[in-house]
Amino acid sequence: MLVLMMANTTSAQTCLLKNNDREWIEHTLTLWQTVSRDSLSLKSAPLPWIVLFDETCVWHVNPDLPISTPQKAVDFAKTKLSFARKFVDVYGIAHEGNITLPDKRQISPQLMTFVSSYNGGKKNFLVSAMPSIWQKAPHLKTEVNLNVLVRSVFVHEMTHANHRNFFDALNRIEKQYAFSEGFDDDIVQNHFSKSEDFSKSYETERDLLYQALSETDIQRKRQLAKNAFDIMQARRQKFFVGNGTIYTQVENIFLTMEGAANWAAYRAAKAEGLSETDALKLICRDGKQWSQDEGLALFLLADSLLPAWQNKVFGKSAVSIIDLLQKAL
Ligand SMILES: [Zn+2]
Repeated sequence: MLVLMMANTTSAQTCLLKNNDREWIEHTLTLWQTVSRDSLSLKSAPLPWIVLFDETCVWHVNPDLPISTPQKAVDFAKTKLSFARKFVDVYGIAHEGNITLPDKRQISPQLMTFVSSYNGGKKNFLVSAMPSIWQKAPHLKTEVNLNVLVRSVFVHEMTHANHRNFFDALNRIEKQYAFSEGFDDDIVQNHFSKSEDFSKSYETERDLLYQALSETDIQRKRQLAKNAFDIMQARRQKFFVGNGTIYTQVENIFLTMEGAANWAAYRAAKAEGLSETDALKLICRDGKQWSQDEGLALFLLADSLLPAWQNKVFGKSAVSIIDLLQKAL
């Protein structure tokens, strides 16, 4: 009993949210609220279970208590966050290098941000390292907009938390087809980038899409986008054949999911005060992620050509950005 009480005192003192951590989380959730309402037109995006951690503590924001940890009152420090005129419960626990996720998986506290599901795939949760862990990453040491990057990546993943329909479609496809590589948003790149022809085609269509974006004449803008779509079509007819025809659907889904999430991240970076150029640079990073880079271009185009595109790529409807844009060109 004494041990438990001491553990409680230690955990509660160590893992009560400090003011700067509390402000960071509240600011980030408010940013998500702004982007989801103003840019994604999500009227009420329910907050998922959010698991945030630093080197010492894990904070469960808005947890589904009956399902997983924290279960014992002695283990955590409870507090509340305030954002969007609501209060959200937060439970802080000392993790001792081992974090239990809502789906019972265990992870160590390293640089990561992702969305996954629990409760038989019915609910989503989001995991993210706090800024103190990002600041220690060697490849980010020179990033001047690191704080904006961390928030934008959080917004990217929160967008995925609203992609239930696409996740359901992906689960069905993954079960039905035998893919030789990891089934994630890089699957087309990982499978086909060995082909120089395929890579060239992808690069040409991506560059045409970004050219279309910078074109001010609307006719020329449409023509450049059409050219990009023609090249995409030819690429798919050549490479997505036989058992590989499913890649058309897979590519459409990942371009839509990654594009929407990257577009939301781009809007978040702009809302944080970055210029269009700096926001694009921050979100595209090294420009080597096919589905994310081409996806972002597609959504930037959709935003200039298709009013109210948001109603079609969230919620019950799960139309791909390719089908949507093809109709608009
Ligand atoms: Zn993503």
